Amino acid sequence: MPSAHNVSETHQGRLREIAQNVFSYVQPDGTWFINNMGLIVGETEAISIDTTSTERRNRSYIDAIEALTSNPVKLVVNTHHHADHTHGNFMFPDATIVAHSECRRVMVETGIPNYRSAFPDVEWGELKFRAPDITISGLTTLHLDDLAIELAGLGYVAHTEGDLLVWIPSRRVLFTGDLIFNGGTPFALFGSIEGTLRALDVIENYEAEVIVPGHGPAFKKQQTSEVLNSQRDYLRFVQATALLGVRKNRSPLEQAMATDLGIFSSLTDSERLAGNLHVAYREISASGYIWQGTAQAIKDMIVYNKGQLPHCVA
Ligand SMILES: [Zn+2]
Repeated sequence: MPSAHNVSETHQGRLREIAQNVFSYVQPDGTWFINNMGLIVGETEAISIDTTSTERRNRSYIDAIEALTSNPVKLVVNTHHHADHTHGNFMFPDATIVAHSECRRVMVETGIPNYRSAFPDVEWGELKFRAPDITISGLTTLHLDDLAIELAGLGYVAHTEGDLLVWIPSRRVLFTGDLIFNGGTPFALFGSIEGTLRALDVIENYEAEVIVPGHGPAFKKQQTSEVLNSQRDYLRFVQATALLGVRKNRSPLEQAMATDLGIFSSLTDSERLAGNLHVAYREISASGYIWQGTAQAIKDMIVYNKGQLPHCVA
């Protein structure tokens, strides 16, 4: 199926001011490779939080930035290594790229991943690999004029091995990367279910006024408990499902096929259950499960989807 050359209007992101000089760029519908970015505009320069997946999506984002401000983006923060958050790094040639040291390590190991088996219809464009220039691990503060921006590594594996939270204390805005999929199925295949649960507690403790997740709509303080609890409920459901699967001596895929998602079937990208179960099995110490690799888990997600490729509008 040929895909359109331009980002369709329904899947087009836009910059929205969520606090003074702080913008979210939420791309609907938040499914595979349709991630969110953030932009902080200073007096003479700007900082972008993450980039996006395809060349044309990055181009649309850059067009939106240029329509808003003539300040160059001098710094890009990668919240983690995944393609949708980092593929556009090379399209910000004036920017220094900052990421967690583990994020850079995985990026350099992987290069530009080949997703053709699961996502053959995505037009990635002419991508060039661009690794982060500066790596950090603990708490680091950036200063954009008078505005402090804190980058916080977690110290443990959560969504990935190198997640960064981006917190603007004076605006009480938090960018979480993919530690939250608002309205979507959490995805821990490259990380840890337990670690993601731990990270959600850390996120809650910020008491942010606005949270911009890695995918799905941004939300305010009043919705925080609801969103975080929905993510927690799903992750605990995956853990309980894995425990049942181990007891019944089923493979992660067999257990996924035997599971009724119930209330979680309304979350997008539900085939992630099959991938997440591999991780949940690994995290049960007595399971006897031997890690089969992410490629096998992705194959299982397609089998779980009755052979259909994941829904992807990137
Ligand atoms: Zn991710």
